[in-house]
Amino acid sequence: MDLDLRAGLASNYKSPSQVARVVSEHWAAQNLYCPACDSNRLNQSPTNTRAVDLLCPRCNQVFQLKSSLRWNQNKIVDAAYTSMISAIRSDKVPSLVVMQYTNFWKVWNVLLVPHFFFTESAIQQRRPLGLSARRAGWVGCNILLSEIPPDGKLHLVTDGMITEVDQIRKQYSQIRSFSKLSPDVRGWTLDVLRAVRKINKAEFTLSEVYSFEVELAKAHPGNRNVRPKIRQQLQKLRELQFLEFVRPGCYRLLGTK
Ligand SMILES: [Zn+2]
Repeated sequence: MDLDLRAGLASNYKSPSQVARVVSEHWAAQNLYCPACDSNRLNQSPTNTRAVDLLCPRCNQVFQLKSSLRWNQNKIVDAAYTSMISAIRSDKVPSLVVMQYTNFWKVWNVLLVPHFFFTESAIQQRRPLGLSARRAGWVGCNILLSEIPPDGKLHLVTDGMITEVDQIRKQYSQIRSFSKLSPDVRGWTLDVLRAVRKINKAEFTLSEVYSFEVELAKAHPGNRNVRPKIRQQLQKLRELQFLEFVRPGCYRLLGTK
């Protein structure tokens, strides 16, 4: 992986956002690989494909690339709120690649979130555009990266340091089983996994997970039986080999991350 961007490629473009898009897409097509299979390249998709920028030629996984000079690890602006929510529900979200570069056109951070790690609770509705806007009333969204469990964040480049490809593919293989869950179940499972990661202990109790009851109820307003749901998801995480039962009401994380 070469961390230098070819800024000269976009000399025909004037707008800084177009320059950034051209340069970063070119870099991605030259340097990114697929974490899901053994393809060592991703292809640039035709420019008119909405919200899809890169495609794995081997397993057909699609990736959306978002690049910027600024790096916000907690949140990233995305497109329309309703289309994002319906994409999550129908399992059609592309995987996300967030890339940050420096003033000197060096790639500094690259974060990849597989498509099956997006949940509705990680999508924040933005305020509708004001009346003076060209698209008045349009509602966009933010992807809250902070609400995605660390297991689903693949750090390909961290502050200019490249992670080994094998390590990234290993991390991907450890979470791949989530893609087999249906989107309505997966949302709950990932939200409980996020709670478990926030507890930040190798061994934890059911009551510690219950302390997220209010937060989880808010994320799933249609569900009144939050505690049984939490227990069910802990069982699911056990089946997915993320944790084991130590004794009643006590769990231990397995070395998945
Ligand atoms: Zn692939």
